[in-house]
Amino acid sequence: MSVLIFIDINDEGSVKKTSFEVLTYGAKLARQLGVPAEGVVLAPVKEDLPALGKYGVQKIYQVQHEALAHFDAQVYTSAIAQVAEKTGATVLVFSNNTDGKALAPRLSARLKAGLVSGAVALPDTGDAFTVKKSVFSGKAFADIKITTPIKIITLNPNSFSIEVGEGTAETASVEVTLDAPKVKILNVNRQSSEVPLAEAELVVSGGRGMKGPENWGILEDLAKALNAALACSRPVADAHWRPHNEHVGQTGGAIAPNLYLAVGISGAIQHLAGVNRSKVIVVVNKDPEAPFFKAADYGIVGDLFEVVPKLTEAVKQLKG
Ligand SMILES: Cc1cc2nc3c(=O)[nH]c(=O)nc-3n(C[C@H](O)[C@H](O)[C@H](O)COP(=O)(O)OP(=O)(O)OC[C@H]3O[C@@H](n4cnc5c(N)ncnc54)[C@H](O)[C@@H]3O)c2cc1C
Repeated sequence: MSVLIFIDINDEGSVKKTSFEVLTYGAKLARQLGVPAEGVVLAPVKEDLPALGKYGVQKIYQVQHEALAHFDAQVYTSAIAQVAEKTGATVLVFSNNTDGKALAPRLSARLKAGLVSGAVALPDTGDAFTVKKSVFSGKAFADIKITTPIKIITLNPNSFSIEVGEGTAETASVEVTLDAPKVKILNVNRQSSEVPLAEAELVVSGGRGMKGPENWGILEDLAKALNAALACSRPVADAHWRPHNEHVGQTGGAIAPNLYLAVGISGAIQHLAGVNRSKVIVVVNKDPEAPFFKAADYGIVGDLFEVVPKLTEAVKQLKG
């Protein structure tokens, strides 16, 4: 019996920030259950894996196979299922990010395991195994009981604080049998964004109030001053003012940064669905009745073309 934590690696071979969250979460859950906390790494990684022990994990399994060179949900599912079976894992933990969302349901079917996606807290493991998750785009919580012997949880990014302690993880290789991927990546066009949106702590986002793509310079300046990523509302991406990878909301990316600064965005429910898990929301809008103010922690009623450059100046002065 153990808790197996999927350690997600980015294209540069570094551990993703969301992995530190799931490592902390999985290690705490393992302590709660009185079983070992173990990690699994599939992608080529250039980081010091034993050092991840400081997040509470005791052992890390590494699988090296040519079929794992690029993320492929089917191949990765097969590899994780084999590691789980060989190591006797009873709880599998993933981040509820793009990779976790692709892997967890497949593993749920394969291992006949109950799955709760979008967990926001450690399970209650008293009489049963009950996981709290966020539902209705973050408007409510549901407590879900998992009754199967093997359980899978995906943790919402930014909903659990990373804790760093002391310790070194043991590493071990695991042999698996994998088929070649059924799809072949022909080329990758990487979006050049200085701070990746999905992992950004701070996000500056623009809506139709920006009037046109030619005005984005003021948002780029603010984002640069804050070291924030850029995002936008859907009509902005649909009008090709900004690339689609910046579109957040129900039909775009769902993010949960520490700060979401919404500029010239009305705050339609479909937009809020992707950003309402942000820790602090600041809204700049000239219309005091804009719905976004109801979801905001701080609001500035004013013309964004006057407010944003002043904010940028203030940030620059504050940072010296
Ligand atoms: C099925 C479905 C899915 C959808 N999915 C998404 C989604 O994923 N993401 C998303 O964003 N939308 C989505 N939408 C669209 C959503 O309903 C809204 O239409 C959209 O979010 C509005 O974008 P906006 O706030 O940028 O523009 P608008 O609604 O036009 O708002 C512009 C805002 O800018 C303010 N403004 C204007 N000028 C200034 C100024 N000078 N200074 C300050 N403020 C100013 C205005 O007061 C206004 O509040 C979806 C819609 C549907 C039906």
